[in-house]
Amino acid sequence: MAEPLLSVRDLTKHFPIRKGLFSRTVGQVRAVDGVSFELFPGETLGLVGESGCGKTTTGRCVLRLVEPTSGAVRFEGRDVLGMSARELRSLRREMQIVFQDPYSSLNPRLTVGSMLEEPLAIHGLAKGAAARERVAELLTRVGLSPDHARRYPHEFSGGQRQRIGIARALAVSPRLIVLDEPVSALDVSIQAQIVNLLQDLQRDLGLTYLFVAHDLSVVEHISTRVAVMYLGRIVEVADRATLYRDPRHPYTKALLSAVPVPDPDRRSSRIVLPGDVPSPAAPPSGCRFHPRCPLAAAKGMPARCRTEDTVLREVAPGHLVACHEA
Ligand code: ATP
Repeated sequence: MAEPLLSVRDLTKHFPIRKGLFSRTVGQVRAVDGVSFELFPGETLGLVGESGCGKTTTGRCVLRLVEPTSGAVRFEGRDVLGMSARELRSLRREMQIVFQDPYSSLNPRLTVGSMLEEPLAIHGLAKGAAARERVAELLTRVGLSPDHARRYPHEFSGGQRQRIGIARALAVSPRLIVLDEPVSALDVSIQAQIVNLLQDLQRDLGLTYLFVAHDLSVVEHISTRVAVMYLGRIVEVADRATLYRDPRHPYTKALLSAVPVPDPDRRSSRIVLPGDVPSPAAPPSGCRFHPRCPLAAAKGMPARCRTEDTVLREVAPGHLVACHEA
């Protein structure tokens, strides 16, 4: 098997909860709590889970836009968390991010051209006529026109703005892009266009993606593998076909039951989980999913679900599940 481009081991990010006049730390939000995964060259790993499960924080920790509390992140074997500011700057040429909200992630005062020239200047890649030519090429690449370089972000629709966000990430010719809910803020009719664009770019440029999304339908067509997160942990990972056909974790099954499918063989009734996602400041004992778990409930809530933490174990080659009962 190829060497991973990115390897994440036991990543944690705990945000302190502060209170009072002296901002005393009274607890920790365990946003990411022991996440490990690998990303191989040219693949897309879908990272999926409900709001608050820690997927955005995981994506940002990988790029050190958020400083992890502990763990290891390696990019081509290089220790990302040990890098100096200078090393990190050069790493950012290879790892980029596309944000969820194309309305707030673009500077309203810059023309699209200046915005795309900025990373070229920062990394000393092109200036003057060469930079303008590269901008025209980037705009064409994402399905816009070179003339758009003179316009401002407010002159574009949501989908077009996300194309600009993608062009900005592509400007430095990265190898890995963290896509942080890149289509969640867009109309459903536009979402598929952007996902198709991302797929074309991946094929043509050999890109590797970490695609963060809150539902399984968005990542179904683009993912090579899918990792499902719940309360700061990965609870299941498998290749796409396996995860959608044979999900093992009861949480994955519930998420999947919410995905509309035209295939009658795969249709299942919607599993509605009881209660809300517990606070990551005080995760439940044992398996973090046990208070909402239909499988544990059906089995009379086995003691180990309540008391024993779960670990990801391999149930078939490449298929990992963190469940005592699955
Ligand atoms: P969403 O889809 O809502 O962004 P998510 O799964 O991406 O959700 P995160 O944004 O990673 O989840 O957040 C995980 C947890 O960490 C949440 O409980 C969130 O409130 C908390 N959190 C995130 N950023 C901070 C921060 N800067 N300070 C304190 N808590 C934070």
